[in-house]
Amino acid sequence: MSASVIDFVATEARFGAHNYEPIGVVLSRGEGVWVWDTEGNRYLDCLSAYSAVSQGHCHPKILAAMVEQAHRLTLTSRAFHNDQLAPFYEEIAALTGSHKVLPMNSGAEAVESAIKSVRKWGYEVKGVPDGHAEIIVCANNFHGRTLGIVGFSTDPDTRAHFGPFAPGFKIIPFGDAAALAEAITPNTVAFLVEPIQGEAGVILPPAGYFTEVRELCTTNNVMLVLDEIQTGLGRTGKLLAEQHEGIEADVTLLGKALSGGFYPVSAVLSNNDVLGTLRPGQHGSTFGGNPLACAVARAALRVLTEEGMIENAARQGARFLEGLKDIRANTIREVRGRGLMLAVELHPEAGRARRYCEALQGMGILAKDTHEQTIRIAPPLVITSDQVDWALERLASTLTQDFS
Ligand SMILES: *Cc1c(COP(=O)(O)O)cnc(C)c1O
Repeated sequence: MSASVIDFVATEARFGAHNYEPIGVVLSRGEGVWVWDTEGNRYLDCLSAYSAVSQGHCHPKILAAMVEQAHRLTLTSRAFHNDQLAPFYEEIAALTGSHKVLPMNSGAEAVESAIKSVRKWGYEVKGVPDGHAEIIVCANNFHGRTLGIVGFSTDPDTRAHFGPFAPGFKIIPFGDAAALAEAITPNTVAFLVEPIQGEAGVILPPAGYFTEVRELCTTNNVMLVLDEIQTGLGRTGKLLAEQHEGIEADVTLLGKALSGGFYPVSAVLSNNDVLGTLRPGQHGSTFGGNPLACAVARAALRVLTEEGMIENAARQGARFLEGLKDIRANTIREVRGRGLMLAVELHPEAGRARRYCEALQGMGILAKDTHEQTIRIAPPLVITSDQVDWALERLASTLTQDFS
């Protein structure tokens, strides 16, 4: 690392809370699938800010919409109407087939808002006695970092010394429909689950799982809440990951790519009366639904469909997965994923995934390890076949090295 890079890193370390452990690269520019560091070195971004820049870095049409709107009006609060919120509602509802929309900012806020809404629905519509609502979640979940959410995490780092936590959550294994059937009681209001567990290491449930889950939820009048903050908006090769399973959630959570990486925008979508239970004064957010966010999200959704990014994710994702499967390396334990949400899990003897990500950085690829042994690969959805092949060559030569 050069002197200036060390300076940025050291200054962050001196003043910043040390709640991240970034790879040693300081980025200053991005375009499409590429990012550049302060020295001018170019990298293929295989993380996409955890899927938030699915549309590619600094997409010109989203940028134009943002700049144009920033000149006109940025924030009104919901005390007044603005001329971007209604078209945003209309467009996202048409695209996803949802009936009601609640706009928020971060993903965690969308999750919190869904939890509040399904509890209220439970008391006011389902008839659960007040204070007794139960929400079922899965082991190894990741739904964000607020106090409410980390309280039902099963990751010790995520929870330790942050309690006491809110009650009302029941944890079952992911991918186990029988466990869900057993956990449901008359007080169960919702099952909150990721279609594919992203932070856990891109874990796909067994085939047929979500069909059973959907049936159980319908039979027991339990709201199925799918956290599609990472899987949604084309990442897995469909608009929503639920479409792979041929099901529809009652409540869908979107975030990350909803703004193409320009701005925090999230949303709770519901196709029944869950959001209908919220009355004026009962929930809100100063920035939620602001005109700048709505203009950005509208452009982010438009380019996703107009430019064929979802189909491209399916096509390039299949090519990438095949290519990864073809790599003959003793370090690889398993390759898995769907669309452009991919992961390479290393054998424990191969050494830490972090070491491989650092080696990839030297080859011009930025990827991030998760859970010690897994390298996650999630490039922007605009990646081309040539770029996939370029990445595969470098992955193959890195993964055949031994860093144990
Ligand atoms: C990233 C993520 C969140 C949290 O989103 P933030 O914007 O970081 O609060 C929630 N759920 C899933 C599945 C995520 O991947």
